[in-house]
Amino acid sequence: MNIDLHTHTTASDGHLTANELIQRATDFGINVLSITDHDTTSAHEQLSTVYPDSLTIIPGIEFSTQWKKTYIHILGLNIQIDNAAIRTGIAAQCQLRKERAERIAEKLEKLGIENPLTGAQHIAHHNNIGRPHFARYLVETGVVSDINQAFKKYLSVGKPAHFSQQWSPLVQIIDWVRSAGGTAVLAHPAKYKLTRTKLNALVDEFCSLGGEAIEVISGKQIPATTRELAKLCQDKSLLATCGSDFHQPGQLWAELGQYPSLPKACKPIWDKW
Ligand code: AMP
Ligand code: MN
Ligand code: MN
Ligand code: MN
Repeated sequence: MNIDLHTHTTASDGHLTANELIQRATDFGINVLSITDHDTTSAHEQLSTVYPDSLTIIPGIEFSTQWKKTYIHILGLNIQIDNAAIRTGIAAQCQLRKERAERIAEKLEKLGIENPLTGAQHIAHHNNIGRPHFARYLVETGVVSDINQAFKKYLSVGKPAHFSQQWSPLVQIIDWVRSAGGTAVLAHPAKYKLTRTKLNALVDEFCSLGGEAIEVISGKQIPATTRELAKLCQDKSLLATCGSDFHQPGQLWAELGQYPSLPKACKPIWDKW
């Protein structure tokens, strides 16, 4: 089995449409694919009804939220996308994304950058807008040389065009996922750069609120990270997931299905399915 439970499309900040992603998943021999766009499930609504029997699509989402002062991401996997509670939640998060984009654009304008909002909206094809769309606009207009510089100089936490958005609270996000029959997964725990003590506290709170899984494998990570996250997963009796966090072809550390397999000691989320 070749399973990838964390991917993006043009419905958020990915570069491939849902159907292009499915074509690539088929080419890469993926059997189980979850599309997990930022705060939207619209890719799932755009899927062509014909894709190979060899491929199972798991409806998913990646919600933006925060824990104390740290921005974190929660995957909702195997959700019923027409569930009323999660639809309300998605609408609220999309509205917050729109408002945040306006605040980011105001900041960029004050820094002398022209038409950042229309520029980023155009790149996003008026889908769910995020910082990567602003980053691409800054590259296209020659303000910075690459996406990384756009984050480093403007868009990352603490940089002049960063806006400290308050997303819907963690408890709410987990409730939406569970109401929709899904499993809440703490995405890429190593990316938050928390100390071991803080990550432990985050996971404890996540569990107490109904979170059930952590992403033990996120792309091509180093063995030490895998060992640490596998231990955390076992210590807290959580389910384990794996995914590439694929956004576009050519990012070798995040290609569909290309990552280490889940350690044997971890209980995979698909045992539940
Ligand atoms: P947002 O959801 O709008 O806050 O944007 C977060 C997304 O930006 C992440 O999911 C990544 O795809 C991307 N991202 C975050 N930091 C960086 C970075 N330093 N370089 C490139 N992309 C980044
Ligand atoms: Mn992203
Ligand atoms: Mn993420
Ligand atoms: Mn992601």
